[in-house]
Amino acid sequence: MTNHDLETLLHRIDGRPYPAYKDTRGTYEFGDFTLSIDKVQGDPFASPSRLSIIVPHADSELPADLFASPSRRTGTENFLALAFSRACHRASAHSGSGKSGLIAIDTPGQELLARSCVEIGDTETIVRFAVGLPANGRRIRGRSAADLLTRDLPDIIDSALYYPNLDANEIRAFAETAEDADFIRAELSSRKLVSFVADGAILPRASGIDERPMPNAVPFQSPDSLRQSFDLPNAGTVSGMAIPEGVTLIVGGGYHGKSTLLNALERGVYNHQPADGRELVIARADANKVRAEDGRSVAKVDLSPFIGQLPGGKDSTAFTTENASGSSSQAAAIIEALETGSKALLLDEDISATNLLIRDARMQQLIAPDKEPITPFVQRVRSLYEDCGVSTILVLGGSGDYFEPADLVIGLDNYIPKDLTQEAKKLCDPQTASNDLKLDPSKIALQPDQSNRSANPVSINPYTHSRGRPARSRIKTRDARSLTFGENEIDLSLIPQLVDNSQARAIGAALAYAVENRFFETHPLPEALEKTIAAANSHRLSHLAPGDLAQIRLQELAASLNRLRSLRIK
Ligand code: ADP
Ligand code: MG
Repeated sequence: MTNHDLETLLHRIDGRPYPAYKDTRGTYEFGDFTLSIDKVQGDPFASPSRLSIIVPHADSELPADLFASPSRRTGTENFLALAFSRACHRASAHSGSGKSGLIAIDTPGQELLARSCVEIGDTETIVRFAVGLPANGRRIRGRSAADLLTRDLPDIIDSALYYPNLDANEIRAFAETAEDADFIRAELSSRKLVSFVADGAILPRASGIDERPMPNAVPFQSPDSLRQSFDLPNAGTVSGMAIPEGVTLIVGGGYHGKSTLLNALERGVYNHQPADGRELVIARADANKVRAEDGRSVAKVDLSPFIGQLPGGKDSTAFTTENASGSSSQAAAIIEALETGSKALLLDEDISATNLLIRDARMQQLIAPDKEPITPFVQRVRSLYEDCGVSTILVLGGSGDYFEPADLVIGLDNYIPKDLTQEAKKLCDPQTASNDLKLDPSKIALQPDQSNRSANPVSINPYTHSRGRPARSRIKTRDARSLTFGENEIDLSLIPQLVDNSQARAIGAALAYAVENRFFETHPLPEALEKTIAAANSHRLSHLAPGDLAQIRLQELAASLNRLRSLRIK
């Protein structure tokens, strides 16, 4: 069928009851692209219909070097999604009831994530989007629909996907920015670095709800002692602050930019758009921010490295609770992060449990050791690095207790970092015996397959109460903040590096995939999740499930399942 058949069909159903739109399902040749009407909404107020188009590169004239590697391809895909989104905004005319006339695509944020809404293949680009098929009340507005799909849509495609109509420099910048960022990230481990912040980077955001760069911010400037440079494939030689593996402390007066730096590092596991300000702020791909989250559930996590014998004889080696405290939630987050194989932890005093981070000498005198179950992180952080290979970057302005175990002390002064390691070390008393306590790496899971946490598949089976309905129909994502998993709600709101609603949907789809493939029945929990990510990454995201999905990491997938209240560990 062709665009003319679609037009005729839409004119014919004009004025008929809304369900007649179902007849439009199918594929239509438009000459230089193919339109597919995949899913038709039941009424004008329901979620909009799902459509996709396929544009051959021969028609769009998209140059092959813009998608020659996965990095470049993801950068280019994000550009096209943004261009398509802008064109939809211009064309979307609200006409009629409900979502009539809407045309919209999943719009990328500042991060350059692979997304199912735009997938560039070897010979063609697939774009998936939503359309509110027009109606008056529940009567089809067939003529409006015909205008929308056979006139407005080709205009959108023309302006957003045809290379001759695009800003060539802008699209190239997306591909190259992504390639340069991935280049640095790949170099980090061979140089034994945890992260890199380029000179000139803009770290603060416009506001708490606006992720664009803050106008007139003070640009980042590395201390000389920490400066390293990279020869990038596109941007040439760039210099900046390199944070080595080990224990790094970020100090400084309140309001001098400590949390802003750490937040930029935590987002540095992802690539960013050109002109974001953080496009050359890079962290290792496995860096994991760990925070306190009192009230969360915890399922059989061995907290004994940080929390010993609890009051009432409660077992801390298989700690389970429906309502964790600040310290136990953060200790659990650390152990769960290690279990995913993460070799870099990021902590900020602002969202940490103080008693997990430090305990000063006076408090040690007042409270006898046998009355304090917590071994503070300060006593484990050295061994975590030396014996387990796990680096830490910690923001702490209120205590000098970490001067001893720190390898590097970065002080922020009016947003400009200084290397204060020497000064801080001078304040340490060489006479005082070290407080460091050893960790036994053989007793901690430092890789997904070392975990002894295996899930009871019944407890995570979202169709337990649904007589075998497919798992995906039982897993729903409302927004980036929560996931309905069978009878249970998983609260995602405090998972620090979950940055996009479409990542939340991908987590739901990935969990459904793992359940359907019975991964949890045969593997430790984190290994099952790692297999899930590997399966998801072996194809384009659209293979995982329909709908708008974005790329996820093992860390966020694991963090989500770890918050499932019905999770039972064998
Ligand atoms: P701290 O954690 O040290 O108390 P924050 O990181 O919260 O400080 O930063 C305090 C304020 O300064 C925030 O409003 C932040 O947006 C702003 N800020 C941070 N870095 C810069 C910068 N480079 N230029 C301008 N303002 C900044
Ligand atoms: Mg702060």
